[in-house]
Amino acid sequence: MFDNREKTDLNKLGEFGLIQHLTQSVEISQPTTVKGIGDDAAVLDFSGKKTLISTDLLLEGIHFDLRYVPLKHLGYKAVQVNLSDIYAMNGIASQITFSIGLSSKFPLEAVEEIYEGALIACKKFNVDLIGGDTSASAQGLVLSVTSIGYADEQNITYRSTAREGDLLCVSGDLGGAYVGLQLLEREKQIFLENPNIQPDLEGKDYIVERQLKPEARKDIIELLEALHVKPTAMIDVSDGLASEILHICKDSNVGCKLYEEKIPIDPMTYETARDFGLDPTVCALSGGEDYELLFTIPQSDYDKIKGQLDITVIGHITEPEAGRLMISKSGNVHEITAQGWNAFKK
Ligand code: ADP
Ligand code: MG
Repeated sequence: MFDNREKTDLNKLGEFGLIQHLTQSVEISQPTTVKGIGDDAAVLDFSGKKTLISTDLLLEGIHFDLRYVPLKHLGYKAVQVNLSDIYAMNGIASQITFSIGLSSKFPLEAVEEIYEGALIACKKFNVDLIGGDTSASAQGLVLSVTSIGYADEQNITYRSTAREGDLLCVSGDLGGAYVGLQLLEREKQIFLENPNIQPDLEGKDYIVERQLKPEARKDIIELLEALHVKPTAMIDVSDGLASEILHICKDSNVGCKLYEEKIPIDPMTYETARDFGLDPTVCALSGGEDYELLFTIPQSDYDKIKGQLDITVIGHITEPEAGRLMISKSGNVHEITAQGWNAFKK
């Protein structure tokens, strides 16, 4: 699982030694952080803004497989996917806590790698690491990240406020993370059967990165602000486009029309899905883990986003009675259903 460098047993350090070691280089840069690591609780001050909090639990064997996920990427991704939830509320992420449960198979060097990735993400997204918890785990690696952010009340975007006539938009492209996962799974199987065969991921960087190293779309939040567009509703795409659209429609009590031909799919995602005998549209609808933003905007804002390469209008919001529909490339009408992750993933 790790490389050949010499390993340090965590028992040598003890819990306090480990925390001290991991957090010694942590610096605080956010004006909203009054006190970070080092007391019984961190202290924050958002002076009049609303506070946003979101938390995620990541379990080895359920959410990640260390046979192909590098630890540094794991630390990075754990932070990213959590920050994505703050951006999905149209907020500014400012702090995280990072908690970790470690089974005896993890040496210090492994934990250092996880932390390295987590701290790279903190730096990149300009958030302070302000605390966490550290414990032994009976089995497997456990990570839990909580992200904290803030927003002016009028800027917060809920899932429940899409309106009839709004345009349905998505950032980036979809399905790549799922197809990347299929590639990694295939290479893992080949490796398990014959450990002498090296993984063949040649030329597949984009989709492998979409799976291993997703990027929370803070840039889209900033872009929308610069364009003076406030989404009427927003959600991040963690479970697949279909599931997220249904969340917005249910919570807002509206219907929608989604046009299959408009769904943004990268050519590499498309071709690789085809090679696997998968329908690229299904990968986008049900794959998940793309961490793009799905949002609705008033029709009158169309001119403001028109021509933005990273934003695609994929449909519009209708009255609830019209149903939640996808118009296929051949013009057939399908009801949108969320397969959910148990139906689709292993
Ligand atoms: P307590 O016994 O009150 O839980 P700890 O000894 O666990 O205190 O933590 C001491 C300090 O170190 C706290 O500020 C806590 O937030 C921080 N801390 C503990 N584990 C981590 C971690 N994995 N990452 C960052 N900070 C941590
Ligand atoms: Mg503790």
